[in-house]
Amino acid sequence: MYDRVYNFSAGPAMMSVPVLEEIRDEMLNYRGSGMCVMEMSHRSKVFQQIADEAEADLRKLMGIPDNYKVLFIQGGATLQFSMIPMNLMKNGKAVYIESGAWSKKAIAEAKKVGEVIVAASSKDRNYAYVPDCSDLDIPEDTDYVYICENETIHGTTYPKLPNTKGHILVADQSSMFLSKPVNVSDYGMIYAGVQKNVGPAGMVIAIIREDLIRDDLTDLPIYMQYSAHAQNGSMYNTPNCWAIYCCGKVFKYLLSIGGLSEMHRRNVEKAKVLYDFLDSSKLFSGTVDKDCRSLMNVPFVTGSEEMDAKVVAATKAAGFDNLKGHRSVGGLRASIYNAMPKEGVEALVTLLREFEANNK
Ligand SMILES: *Cc1c(COP(=O)(O)O)cnc(C)c1O
Repeated sequence: MYDRVYNFSAGPAMMSVPVLEEIRDEMLNYRGSGMCVMEMSHRSKVFQQIADEAEADLRKLMGIPDNYKVLFIQGGATLQFSMIPMNLMKNGKAVYIESGAWSKKAIAEAKKVGEVIVAASSKDRNYAYVPDCSDLDIPEDTDYVYICENETIHGTTYPKLPNTKGHILVADQSSMFLSKPVNVSDYGMIYAGVQKNVGPAGMVIAIIREDLIRDDLTDLPIYMQYSAHAQNGSMYNTPNCWAIYCCGKVFKYLLSIGGLSEMHRRNVEKAKVLYDFLDSSKLFSGTVDKDCRSLMNVPFVTGSEEMDAKVVAATKAAGFDNLKGHRSVGGLRASIYNAMPKEGVEALVTLLREFEANNK
């Protein structure tokens, strides 16, 4: 009806049509306020209600315990690469797991702040798997253990959380946020840039255990202090009101379909369509070890760069967008986040199957 494409982008990514329709309907006049949410003061009662509801719905959706703060912060997931070590390194030491491009970036920033121990890495096979984290060498005075729980570029996800041996776990969930139920208490902090699986770019959601928020870090630039955001209800300065509003819509939508266990069921079913095809194909193959395949990002190759380019061109011609793989992996990558309908994946598989038949 809207002539929309199946957008397989790794991010910013698709949003659900019912959510976009609601946003459209409220664009010119949000519920009798006479203005668009983009035009609203963040100090107004009407916006405060939007923000409060968004937080309450997210808490319900994820089952976030009361002793965790939910913060809406700007600067994307990237700013967290710096904020985390600046705020959480008490002893100046943290363990990082190097499982791909995004954890590598986080490691590089943390090294500017303190000592980083890379306790496990999957670099030896271009990050095609998640390293074994069942018995890591973790010094006693380590402040936290850091993972990127879903590596967007390489298409891996942790089949099981690391054994942190009692240390705090910090997870970048940007490309898997709200894709499945998680036990928030397993983490000291979860954070996610919202433009992969939730809403518009430019905001991160940080869920952080209250006792980890320090108020003695007054030498840090104010925006870098979690306490500044926590003490001011994520409104120390003007927040990304538009993103908070859109994310709130998505939270309500997810609650309406049955929450994260239903979302997870759909994601498993959807990803299976593509993985089953890749496993049966003689032309295409997935690049990731089966036990740590991501439900969200699916990289695959033909084995020939020339053929890969031909496939990408064929997908474009057929009206599928953004399937070219990241240059560090090559081939193709289908990002099939929450908002990608199963029909989109089925249509892609039909195209790939035809391509294979025509290119024997
Ligand atoms: C996209 C992404 C980031 C970076 O997000 P920005 O909002 O662009 O800073 C960080 N981590 C992961 C896992 C990502 O997928």
